[in-house]
Amino acid sequence: MKTSLKALGLLAILLTVVVISGFGSSNADGGNSSSEQEDATKPVAVQGAMDVEVSALLDEMEDYKTEQQGGYTFYVGEIDDIPVVVSRTEVGMVHAAASTTLLIDEYEPKAIINQGTAGGHNPNIHVFDTIIGTEVMNIGSIKTDHLDDEKGMEPDSWHFMKTQMREDGDIKEVASFKSDPELVEKAWNVKEKYGYGNVVKGKIGSADVWNREIDRIQWFHEKAGTDAEEMEAASVAQVAEGFDIPYLSIRTISNSEVTNDGIEDLEKAGQYGAEFAIEVVKEIGK
Ligand code: SAH
Repeated sequence: MKTSLKALGLLAILLTVVVISGFGSSNADGGNSSSEQEDATKPVAVQGAMDVEVSALLDEMEDYKTEQQGGYTFYVGEIDDIPVVVSRTEVGMVHAAASTTLLIDEYEPKAIINQGTAGGHNPNIHVFDTIIGTEVMNIGSIKTDHLDDEKGMEPDSWHFMKTQMREDGDIKEVASFKSDPELVEKAWNVKEKYGYGNVVKGKIGSADVWNREIDRIQWFHEKAGTDAEEMEAASVAQVAEGFDIPYLSIRTISNSEVTNDGIEDLEKAGQYGAEFAIEVVKEIGK
């Protein structure tokens, strides 16, 4: 009697352990789901450089914890029960790289969405349209040819330089960073939920510069194939790739010199883009 009670007790403990650890459970494909479970607890990170690009996300989370790492702010919460960390990167390539490194180190995100406002390079893409950035390029990484003293500057002849990444000890030259195809697909799935303009796929160029010269913008559009410019995406993508974290760029056009829209509104574009990012997060969490 005593031994059978003991055995029963042991069995109960064993069963509890099995249930808690989820041992032996399988997903729809019949595979073991332990890595999926680990993934479910990892947050989706959503970055915005400025308050106008993160405030809609904070409103959606309602309850969140604000954490400060140096000069960078992280907001930890949930959207529809999906763990989310919203990161205010601050403006520019260096801030974006530093805060992304901290983000990865401190929060181990399963995906990084870099989103916000951008200036149009493509005349067919209008203010308040949103671009799913399938690839992003550092358009400030430029090399010039030699010109003699007093010969002036010839920006038209400048060349884009590739970024060198170290992979398994070897150097890999990267002309542009690709967004994760699965994340692109998730964003594309919810494009109908965006009500402020078109959602298109495109190429984003990043640099610490704001271009307003139309010939220069056209030069980028033709030479680099960029559809829009901003100041963070390529920097984030570079760090994300360095740590092998899936990355997605989403940008809402807030200004364009190459359309007749006559609008420059970072606040509205920031809000609209962040609202779309919320839909993308929900789609990722499905
Ligand atoms: N404080 C700045 C405004 C920063 S706007 C000022 O004094 O003018 C720059 C931010 O908006 C960046 O985060 C960038 O990603 C985005 N952005 C929007 N339109 C842009 C454009 N046409 N060129 C570069 N960045 C742009």
